[in-house]
Amino acid sequence: MTGVQFSLRHRWTGWDEHGHLLFQTPNGQNAVGPRATALALGGASWPRLGSDGGWVETLGARGVKVTPLKSANCGFVVAWSDIFRDRFEGQPLKGVALSFGAHLVRAEAMITRDGIEGGAIYALSAELREAILASGGATLHIALRPDLKTHDLVARLSAPRGKQTFSNWLRKAAQLSPVGIGLLQEAAIASGVVLSSLPPENLTERINAVPVPSSRV
Ligand SMILES: Cc1cc2nc3c(=O)[nH]c(=O)nc-3n(C[C@H](O)[C@H](O)[C@H](O)COP(=O)(O)OP(=O)(O)OC[C@H]3O[C@@H](n4cnc5c(N)ncnc54)[C@H](O)[C@@H]3O)c2cc1C
Repeated sequence: MTGVQFSLRHRWTGWDEHGHLLFQTPNGQNAVGPRATALALGGASWPRLGSDGGWVETLGARGVKVTPLKSANCGFVVAWSDIFRDRFEGQPLKGVALSFGAHLVRAEAMITRDGIEGGAIYALSAELREAILASGGATLHIALRPDLKTHDLVARLSAPRGKQTFSNWLRKAAQLSPVGIGLLQEAAIASGVVLSSLPPENLTERINAVPVPSSRV
């Protein structure tokens, strides 16, 4: 680009008493008096690359009104049990549908050590974040087999279990992944429900509306 000069490793820190821009550089402080200034300093998403949102305070000190920064495309903290966390951290939930309020998203999500994130979560993150800010918590629901019609799933879950373990039977009958079954069991334990004692209709309902409560982004 004609006439553009890049000055790397220059950190803008504010203005001096003459209204010049001040930069911290490897060679000390530098003052620059431009005709016009355009600031493009990013949000507070990736401090290691310089986007730390430090400009909010700098501009605020000059009386510039700045809308408080809020997390976007963020993950959510979920209080997983130790067993679930150790076994399923880093595993994707595929082919699921996530819903919060009236908003439904079909995409993947990822179990993390501290909660849940991924494309489906990011699509819901603004609504979840606002709900958590307003009431201290929010519960999203995950449908593990959204592609199956309810009566089909009920029919599959009416198959006899025989000598199979409940998890094995569930995996085969509903074609659930181990992480999906883990999530289902996690929610059942939290609400004091014994999954293996549920009739097929109730189990179907649970499979397609697993509650995942969060209280923090
Ligand atoms: C891990 C991660 C993954 C992402 N993935 C996607 C994706 O897949 N798709 C998508 O669309 N978006 C994605 N985003 C979002 C996307 O990166 C941002 O929306 C976009 O980079 C914002 O552009 P920007 O120019 O406003 O700010 P930035 O790209 O943050 O650039 C701001 C620049 O200003 C510099 N700066 C800040 N303060 C100062 C200062 N005081 N002095 C000098 N320099 C300063 C910073 O070092 C930085 O270089 C992702 C973000 C993250 C953190």
